[in-house]
Amino acid sequence: MNYHQYFPIDVVNGPGTRVTLFVSGCEHQCRGCYNQSTWDVRSGHLFDSVMVDRIIADLSDQRIVRRGLSLSGGDPLLPANLDTILALVKRVKTECPSKDIWLWTGYVFDELSDKQRAVLPYIDVLVDGKFEQNLADPSLMFRGSSNQIIRLL
Ligand code: SF4
Repeated sequence: MNYHQYFPIDVVNGPGTRVTLFVSGCEHQCRGCYNQSTWDVRSGHLFDSVMVDRIIADLSDQRIVRRGLSLSGGDPLLPANLDTILALVKRVKTECPSKDIWLWTGYVFDELSDKQRAVLPYIDVLVDGKFEQNLADPSLMFRGSSNQIIRLL
């Protein structure tokens, strides 16, 4: 898996102070997507074990306490990303059990494959659905359009 950006301190993408990873790769092609540069799975930088260790270290940092990890993109539930994402969320929940994990995906909850669903036990909140430009509302918290649902798992 590749990633586009990593924010070690983020107060925008989810509640509280967090760490946020924007992965590469998305097949939804939403009209009005603000992140088209992430669509190509080959774009960005390799997400390697050094990055996983960095996320764990940042989540464990006592000087600036983070509430949790946000996974966005791109799409973390793109099939090509699933093995890496599953390993990441398992490790975060094992080594940082007090931290919450939010995940944004363009897929719809009811249509997730078994392999995508395997990630769900390790995350706390799923924000699902494509960005629909005609339903866009800048007043919405943590989502871009009103069709997207914030699901507490
Ligand atoms: S799911 Fe997100 S990244 Fe993918 S096309 Fe839609 S808005 Fe863009």
